[in-house]
Amino acid sequence: MKCNITCIPGDGIGPEIVAEAKKVLEKVAKVYGHELQFKDILMGGASIDVHGIPLTDEAIADCKAADAVLMGSIGGNTSTSPWYQLPPEKRPEAGLLKLRKALNLFANLRPAYLYEELAGACPLKEEISAAGFDMMIMRELTGGLYFGERKTVTEDGVRKAIDTLTYDENEIRRIAIKGFDIARKRRGKVTSVDKANVLDSSRLWRAVVNEVAKDYPDVELEHMLVDNCAMQLVKDPAQFDVILTENMFGDILSDEASMVTGSIGMLSSASLNDSKFGLYEPSHGSAPDIAGQDIANPIATILSASMMLRYSFDLDKEADAIDGAVKKVLQDGYRTIDIMSTGMKQVGCKEMGDLIVERIS
Ligand code: NAD
Repeated sequence: MKCNITCIPGDGIGPEIVAEAKKVLEKVAKVYGHELQFKDILMGGASIDVHGIPLTDEAIADCKAADAVLMGSIGGNTSTSPWYQLPPEKRPEAGLLKLRKALNLFANLRPAYLYEELAGACPLKEEISAAGFDMMIMRELTGGLYFGERKTVTEDGVRKAIDTLTYDENEIRRIAIKGFDIARKRRGKVTSVDKANVLDSSRLWRAVVNEVAKDYPDVELEHMLVDNCAMQLVKDPAQFDVILTENMFGDILSDEASMVTGSIGMLSSASLNDSKFGLYEPSHGSAPDIAGQDIANPIATILSASMMLRYSFDLDKEADAIDGAVKKVLQDGYRTIDIMSTGMKQVGCKEMGDLIVERIS
């Protein structure tokens, strides 16, 4: 298979971790006989320094022309970097928002997986973490409360703020389809999370998800209220496979699910549109405090590259090879500084990349 991948190394540790993910992808391509072509573009602070803006139209065109985009992270130290003296629309993060919009990325995917070897970092009770968990939070990214009309008014001397939560059935249907498709690649279960006992938007959400489910008789569907889901995530996370939910609930639940894994440097993510196209990036930021020291953990970015193979290119075997190599490296006792524990061998960013490459065959 021939795939064109646009890479956005970005800022801070971004270039270091993207370099390792590329190395891993090149090894997979060699072993499995694929042709990958990479093109690097600038975004965020790196683009501001060269072009004066965080994302150029040419860079957007390069992303649109690719089969998928692999990103490191963008942004600098928000207190000291001159990028944050600029008006908000010229700051690094504005580039990412512009790109997500230009690419119509409406579905955000965040896996939360507890590696047996890192179970010590899990803040849950041992009897819960012992069962392990492996879930995927699928969050609607472009609708709902964050994109509804909002205003603050003063009525009779009293300040009042109004935010509106709107979803139409097409917005719900397209993300539900993605959720069911992804469940089919996993353990075949969707938990749709809403607040249907209170909100009209949730009642429509539930109705449309039920309609979509009819086309997926092989996928188990359950509905769960968001407050219950927040509790279940810490009480019994092993019950979840795909959690499908709207924008604000997903924002909160995906952070909760990430935190129970306990390891920020291990968390990958993807944002998809309604074709196979996606933007793949680690969940963490650009970590300017450790940039340029070769100590960042590249695994979140490497696992994001694995998601790219699985969800944009349908190369499941190849994605399994990367996931397996990451597991093996952890089993063999190698750790970057952020996941280091007694008795393990500490390695840097490059060495971690090399060790993963070695384990792909
Ligand atoms: P951060 O995730 O960059 O860092 C938080 C802490 O985790 C830091 O101590 C950092 O050293 C550590 N850390 C993060 N990733 C690591 C890794 N791979 N290996 C080892 N340690 C790691 O969050 P922050 O400090 O709040 O933000 C820094 C910058 O990143 C800001 O400019 C912020 O806007 C930006 N940011 C960008 C994205 C993105 O590009 N999508 C997401 C979040 C934050």
